[in-house]
Amino acid sequence: MIDLHTHTAASDGSYPPRDLVKLAKQGGLQAIAITDHDTVAGNLEALAAGQEFGMEVVPGVEISADLPSGNIHIVGLFIRPEDQEMEAVLHDLRLYREERNRKMIARLAELGIQINMSELVMEAGGDLVGRPHFASLLTKKGYVKTYQEAFDIYLKSGGKAYLDKKRLPADQAIAMIKAAGGIPILAHPFTLRQKDEENFEAHVKELRDHGLQGIEVYYTDHNHGDEVYFADLARRLNLLISGGTDFHGAVKPDVSLGRGFGLMNIPYELLEHLKEALS
Ligand code: AMP
Ligand code: ZN
Ligand code: FE
Ligand code: FE
Repeated sequence: MIDLHTHTAASDGSYPPRDLVKLAKQGGLQAIAITDHDTVAGNLEALAAGQEFGMEVVPGVEISADLPSGNIHIVGLFIRPEDQEMEAVLHDLRLYREERNRKMIARLAELGIQINMSELVMEAGGDLVGRPHFASLLTKKGYVKTYQEAFDIYLKSGGKAYLDKKRLPADQAIAMIKAAGGIPILAHPFTLRQKDEENFEAHVKELRDHGLQGIEVYYTDHNHGDEVYFADLARRLNLLISGGTDFHGAVKPDVSLGRGFGLMNIPYELLEHLKEALS
């Protein structure tokens, strides 16, 4: 069993990288990929922990990207964490994110909600602050009853304090991942399909023509029918198959590492095919 989509405390997951690798080992997984949003900062610690605990760790990243039809996420597996050009782009994305965070704090203040950046940074326990950290803090400070209520009222797209974030055009995100030695993979494809079922396959073809190499067939929210459909699409478009749970730890407590909502079982064989594509 493997899990090729996970988040650590370097972005908005709750486990530090070493603890996540340890959890994977305890859960009987054979390999995990670290795919934090907009940062590769968790990869080195995770790779070292992989050595320590005897766990195969695949370095990765997850990038938010724009298509004319909406936004998508692209996971890059086997990227070189030390790649300088990629780091420059990720750094820019993080600067925009900080700007967005400041504006969201200001918007919340107009709504009578007092939170500040240092509280958020503490909540994040790392460099990267995202909406999940806003949600946790709003809950802790009693402005909302639940984490989900924070999203529903303030933070979801269209919410009272929501601001869009800067994304790379999809072809740039794909090119950047490839230039850093990685395999670009369309993450949680069901989200794009939900937005525009009619043109979904045309979008994926276009992404493939821009260098997309794989698609997540296995994902926490995919049911069996989805898996069958996306596997067939992968075969028809000559795309590699990947899969993961999008584990975030306590931030999404109903999603288990390697298991999703409980029944996922992603075969190691997928990783072998991905590795063949590297050489
Ligand atoms: P950000 O990168 O700061 O835009 O935050 C994105 C994260 O917020 C996603 O990875 C989800 O974990 C979370 N998220 C986005 N929309 C919702 C929602 N409607 N309800 C709960 N969590 C959400
Ligand atoms: Zn996340
Ligand atoms: Fe995602
Ligand atoms: Fe993710």
